[in-house]
Amino acid sequence: MPLQDIQTRIAKAEADAGRDPGSVKLIAVSKVQPSDRVEAVLEQGHRIFGENRVQEAAGKWPDFKDRFQGIELHLIGPLQTNKARQAMGLCDAIHSVDRPKLANSLARLAQETGSCPDLFIQVNTGEEEQKAGILPSDADEFVELCRGLDLPIRGLMCIPPVEEEPALHFALLRKIAERNGLEGLSMGMSSDFETAIALGANHVRVGSAIFGERVKPQE
Ligand SMILES: *Cc1c(COP(=O)(O)O)cnc(C)c1O
Repeated sequence: MPLQDIQTRIAKAEADAGRDPGSVKLIAVSKVQPSDRVEAVLEQGHRIFGENRVQEAAGKWPDFKDRFQGIELHLIGPLQTNKARQAMGLCDAIHSVDRPKLANSLARLAQETGSCPDLFIQVNTGEEEQKAGILPSDADEFVELCRGLDLPIRGLMCIPPVEEEPALHFALLRKIAERNGLEGLSMGMSSDFETAIALGANHVRVGSAIFGERVKPQE
Protein backbone atom coordinates (compact mmCIF):
# COMPACT_ATOMS: atom_id res chain seq x y z
CA MET A 1 0.00 0.00 0.00
CA PRO A 2 1.46 3.37 -0.92
CA LEU A 3 2.83 5.52 1.88
CA GLN A 4 0.25 8.15 1.11
CA ASP A 5 -2.63 5.76 1.78
CA ILE A 6 -1.20 4.91 5.18
CA GLN A 7 -0.85 8.61 5.96
CA THR A 8 -4.46 9.15 4.92
CA ARG A 9 -5.63 6.31 7.15
CA ILE A 10 -3.63 7.73 10.07
CA ALA A 11 -5.18 11.17 9.52
CA LYS A 12 -8.65 9.65 9.47
CA ALA A 13 -7.98 7.65 12.64
CA GLU A 14 -6.71 10.81 14.36
CA ALA A 15 -9.86 12.70 13.34
CA ASP A 16 -12.18 9.85 14.36
CA ALA A 17 -10.55 9.77 17.79
CA GLY A 18 -10.77 13.54 18.18
CA ARG A 19 -7.00 13.79 18.18
CA ASP A 20 -5.03 16.69 16.72
CA PRO A 21 -3.89 16.26 13.11
CA GLY A 22 -0.25 15.23 13.09
CA SER A 23 -0.28 13.98 16.69
CA VAL A 24 0.65 10.47 15.55
CA LYS A 25 4.16 9.82 14.31
CA LEU A 26 4.49 7.19 11.59
CA ILE A 27 7.58 5.03 11.99
CA ALA A 28 8.15 3.21 8.70
CA VAL A 29 9.62 -0.15 9.70
CA SER A 30 12.21 -0.96 7.07
CA LYS A 31 13.80 -4.09 8.56
CA VAL A 32 14.86 -6.67 5.97
CA GLN A 33 13.34 -4.62 3.15
CA PRO A 34 15.39 -4.23 -0.01
CA SER A 35 17.13 -0.84 -0.31
CA ASP A 36 15.18 0.23 -3.38
CA ARG A 37 11.90 0.03 -1.47
CA VAL A 38 13.34 2.05 1.40
CA GLU A 39 14.79 4.56 -0.98
CA ALA A 40 11.43 4.98 -2.72
CA VAL A 41 9.85 5.94 0.60
CA LEU A 42 12.70 8.37 1.30
CA GLU A 43 12.17 9.89 -2.14
CA GLN A 44 8.54 10.49 -1.22
CA GLY A 45 9.76 12.63 1.65
CA HIS A 46 9.29 10.30 4.59
CA ARG A 47 12.06 10.59 7.21
CA ILE A 48 11.12 8.48 10.23
CA PHE A 49 12.18 4.85 10.09
CA GLY A 50 12.37 1.88 12.40
CA GLU A 51 14.81 -1.01 12.48
CA ASN A 52 14.85 -3.89 14.89
CA ARG A 53 18.52 -4.78 14.74
CA VAL A 54 21.51 -2.60 15.40
CA GLN A 55 23.67 -4.55 13.00
CA GLU A 56 21.29 -4.17 10.11
CA ALA A 57 20.65 -0.50 10.88
CA ALA A 58 24.40 0.18 10.97
CA GLY A 59 24.74 -1.47 7.58
CA LYS A 60 22.24 0.61 5.69
CA TRP A 61 21.45 3.89 7.44
CA PRO A 62 24.77 5.80 7.49
CA ASP A 63 24.68 5.85 3.70
CA PHE A 64 21.03 6.98 3.55
CA LYS A 65 21.79 9.63 6.18
CA ASP A 66 24.52 11.01 3.94
CA ARG A 67 22.13 11.26 1.03
CA PHE A 68 18.90 12.39 2.71
CA GLN A 69 18.66 15.15 5.29
CA GLY A 70 16.69 14.89 8.50
CA ILE A 71 16.39 11.14 8.92
CA GLU A 72 15.14 9.99 12.31
CA LEU A 73 15.96 6.41 13.17
CA HIS A 74 14.12 4.39 15.82
CA LEU A 75 15.38 1.11 17.21
CA ILE A 76 12.32 -1.05 17.89
CA GLY A 77 13.90 -4.45 18.49
CA PRO A 78 15.72 -6.06 21.42
CA LEU A 79 19.01 -4.44 22.38
CA GLN A 80 21.96 -6.33 23.84
CA THR A 81 24.09 -4.32 26.23
CA ASN A 82 27.20 -4.90 24.11
CA LYS A 83 25.47 -3.09 21.23
CA ALA A 84 24.16 -0.23 23.35
CA ARG A 85 26.96 2.17 22.47
CA GLN A 86 26.51 1.59 18.76
CA ALA A 87 22.74 1.91 19.05
CA MET A 88 23.04 5.20 20.90
CA GLY A 89 25.31 6.60 18.25
CA LEU A 90 23.02 5.59 15.44
CA CYS A 91 19.47 6.00 16.74
CA ASP A 92 17.30 8.92 17.73
CA ALA A 93 15.01 6.76 19.83
CA ILE A 94 15.11 3.31 21.42
CA HIS A 95 11.76 1.61 22.03
CA SER A 96 13.03 -1.54 23.70
CA VAL A 97 14.36 -0.63 27.13
CA ASP A 98 13.28 -3.74 28.98
CA ARG A 99 15.59 -4.59 31.88
CA PRO A 100 17.70 -3.00 34.62
CA LYS A 101 20.99 -4.16 33.12
CA LEU A 102 20.25 -2.34 29.86
CA ALA A 103 19.00 0.75 31.70
CA ASN A 104 22.27 0.84 33.64
CA SER A 105 24.37 0.54 30.49
CA LEU A 106 22.41 3.28 28.74
CA ALA A 107 22.76 5.54 31.77
CA ARG A 108 26.52 4.99 31.91
CA LEU A 109 26.88 5.75 28.21
CA ALA A 110 24.63 8.80 28.45
CA GLN A 111 26.86 10.15 31.22
CA GLU A 112 29.96 9.46 29.23
CA THR A 113 28.77 10.94 25.93
CA GLY A 114 26.52 13.67 27.30
CA SER A 115 23.57 12.64 25.15
CA CYS A 116 20.91 9.98 24.96
CA PRO A 117 18.22 9.04 22.45
CA ASP A 118 14.58 9.28 23.50
CA LEU A 119 13.73 6.09 25.35
CA PHE A 120 10.62 3.94 25.55
CA ILE A 121 10.15 1.09 27.98
CA GLN A 122 8.89 -2.08 26.38
CA VAL A 123 6.11 -3.73 28.38
CA ASN A 124 5.27 -7.38 27.84
CA THR A 125 1.54 -6.79 28.16
CA GLY A 126 0.68 -10.37 27.19
CA GLU A 127 3.17 -11.77 29.72
CA GLU A 128 4.54 -14.02 26.99
CA GLU A 129 7.56 -16.03 27.97
CA GLN A 130 9.34 -15.71 24.62
CA LYS A 131 8.75 -11.99 24.34
CA ALA A 132 10.96 -9.21 25.63
CA GLY A 133 9.62 -6.50 27.87
CA ILE A 134 9.07 -5.75 31.50
CA LEU A 135 6.00 -7.40 33.07
CA PRO A 136 3.04 -5.07 33.70
CA SER A 137 3.31 -5.67 37.43
CA ASP A 138 6.97 -4.59 37.43
CA ALA A 139 6.51 -1.60 35.16
CA ASP A 140 6.00 1.14 37.77
CA GLU A 141 9.11 0.12 39.65
CA PHE A 142 11.14 -0.03 36.44
CA VAL A 143 10.00 3.44 35.35
CA GLU A 144 11.12 4.68 38.77
CA LEU A 145 14.49 2.98 38.40
CA CYS A 146 15.06 4.54 34.96
CA ARG A 147 14.10 7.96 36.23
CA GLY A 148 16.52 7.52 39.11
CA LEU A 149 19.22 6.95 36.50
CA ASP A 150 18.23 10.22 34.77
CA LEU A 151 17.27 8.42 31.58
CA PRO A 152 15.01 10.35 29.19
CA ILE A 153 12.01 8.00 29.33
CA ARG A 154 9.41 9.33 26.91
CA GLY A 155 6.89 6.55 27.00
CA LEU A 156 6.00 2.88 26.72
CA MET A 157 5.95 0.37 23.90
CA CYS A 158 4.17 -2.96 23.45
CA ILE A 159 3.74 -5.74 20.91
CA PRO A 160 0.46 -7.55 21.65
CA PRO A 161 0.30 -11.35 21.37
CA VAL A 162 -0.65 -12.32 17.81
CA GLU A 163 -3.69 -14.35 18.81
CA GLU A 164 -5.28 -11.75 21.06
CA GLU A 165 -7.42 -8.67 20.65
CA PRO A 166 -4.82 -5.89 20.50
CA ALA A 167 -7.18 -3.26 21.95
CA LEU A 168 -6.95 -4.85 25.40
CA HIS A 169 -3.17 -4.58 25.31
CA PHE A 170 -3.20 -1.02 24.01
CA ALA A 171 -5.59 -0.02 26.78
CA LEU A 172 -3.39 -1.66 29.40
CA LEU A 173 -0.28 0.08 28.07
CA ARG A 174 -2.06 3.40 28.16
CA LYS A 175 -3.17 2.84 31.73
CA ILE A 176 0.37 2.07 32.85
CA ALA A 177 1.67 5.15 31.01
CA GLU A 178 -0.97 7.42 32.53
CA ARG A 179 -0.36 6.38 36.09
CA ASN A 180 3.37 6.99 35.57
CA GLY A 181 2.92 10.37 33.93
CA LEU A 182 4.32 9.22 30.58
CA GLU A 183 2.97 10.68 27.34
CA GLY A 184 4.57 8.49 24.70
CA LEU A 185 2.71 5.43 23.49
CA SER A 186 4.47 3.35 20.85
CA MET A 187 1.84 0.87 19.77
CA GLY A 188 0.11 -0.32 16.62
CA MET A 189 1.53 -2.10 13.57
CA SER A 190 0.27 -2.79 10.04
CA SER A 191 -2.78 -4.75 11.09
CA ASP A 192 -3.93 -2.67 14.03
CA PHE A 193 -2.56 0.88 13.91
CA GLU A 194 -6.02 2.46 13.65
CA THR A 195 -7.13 0.67 16.80
CA ALA A 196 -3.94 1.85 18.51
CA ILE A 197 -4.58 5.45 17.48
CA ALA A 198 -8.13 5.26 18.85
CA LEU A 199 -6.58 4.19 22.16
CA GLY A 200 -3.99 6.97 22.28
CA ALA A 201 -0.94 5.80 20.31
CA ASN A 202 1.34 8.63 19.29
CA HIS A 203 3.95 6.45 17.60
CA VAL A 204 2.79 3.71 15.23
CA ARG A 205 5.28 1.23 13.80
CA VAL A 206 4.16 0.16 10.34
CA GLY A 207 6.23 -2.11 8.13
CA SER A 208 4.63 -4.50 5.69
CA ALA A 209 1.60 -2.26 4.97
CA ILE A 210 4.00 0.33 3.53
CA PHE A 211 6.78 -1.76 2.03
CA GLY A 212 4.98 -4.96 1.18
CA GLU A 213 5.60 -8.32 2.75
CA ARG A 214 9.11 -8.72 4.04
CA VAL A 215 11.12 -10.53 1.43
CA LYS A 216 13.44 -12.40 3.75
CA PRO A 217 11.93 -13.99 6.81
CA GLN A 218 13.56 -12.77 9.97
CA GLU A 219 15.47 -15.74 11.27
C1 LIG B 1 8.46 -5.72 12.39
C2 LIG B 1 7.95 -4.87 13.49
C3 LIG B 1 6.90 -3.96 13.28
C4 LIG B 1 6.18 -3.80 11.95
O1 LIG B 1 5.39 -4.89 11.70
P1 LIG B 1 4.36 -4.91 10.46
O2 LIG B 1 3.39 -5.92 10.83
O3 LIG B 1 5.16 -5.26 9.25
O4 LIG B 1 3.77 -3.55 10.37
C5 LIG B 1 6.50 -3.18 14.34
N1 LIG B 1 7.09 -3.27 15.56
C6 LIG B 1 8.10 -4.13 15.80
C7 LIG B 1 8.71 -4.17 17.14
C8 LIG B 1 8.55 -4.95 14.78
O5 LIG B 1 9.57 -5.80 15.03
